[in-house]
Amino acid sequence: MNANLFEEAIAAATRVLQERPSALISDIDGTLSPIVASPEEAVVMPECRLALHALATRLDLVAVISGRTAAEARRMVGIDDLLYVGNHGLERWDRVEGYRDEAAAFKGEMRELRATLERELRGAQGVRIEDKGVILSLHYRGASRPDEVRQQILGLLDSLLAPSRFVVAEGKMVVEVRPPLALDKGTVIEGLVLGRGLRGAVFLGDDVTDVDAMRGLKRMRECGLASLAIGVAGDGMPDALATESDLLLPGPPAVAAFLEALARALSA
Ligand SMILES: [Mg+2]
Repeated sequence: MNANLFEEAIAAATRVLQERPSALISDIDGTLSPIVASPEEAVVMPECRLALHALATRLDLVAVISGRTAAEARRMVGIDDLLYVGNHGLERWDRVEGYRDEAAAFKGEMRELRATLERELRGAQGVRIEDKGVILSLHYRGASRPDEVRQQILGLLDSLLAPSRFVVAEGKMVVEVRPPLALDKGTVIEGLVLGRGLRGAVFLGDDVTDVDAMRGLKRMRECGLASLAIGVAGDGMPDALATESDLLLPGPPAVAAFLEALARALSA
């Protein structure tokens, strides 16, 4: 990446982050840490760690979102001023609220819902309820009149469920009820933007799941969010990363340089 493009990237990110409240949100592996053969050996670059620490004092939010657990993400980055979102959104940790298992809050509701559905659907022939913990699957393959049963299930769910608490999705001969959990990085980002009223957000990531985050940012532009999606190039980079990102950095060392320059620019 030539010096001019790098300067432009810093300027663009600075502009976005000056829209307060603002957040810098990053993936870990392949973004802050070089990809290594075994994931246990991955290490966040010390330069990235220091720059994130500096940025945490200048921004309203610095968050990392990883497929790793929140505890592992926190161990790798090692700064307590950040928000750590693990398991693609199922759990998180920050200094104020501590550890939160997002799914745990829904498990009780799911148990209650299961009991209600078992009661209500007792007379429905050929329905089997599969409990996957935070997901309930209502199979009606065994029904002699599947269309009728499907309508019955959907009608029942419609009358029972608050749309904000559950998501209903259909598959082949199955209706699924899921909590509206941040099941990808895009919905995590949307939650952060809406929950914290963010006006500006910069995101960095290198992989397929990060493309979801970039798409989430784009959706939030309609809500007035200023955003910059930065892709981090590497071996096996997904094609969509190049098309969905606003700019590409050539690898974690470039991310380190970018974060350092950004921290300097924001303190100027
Ligand atoms: Mg990654």
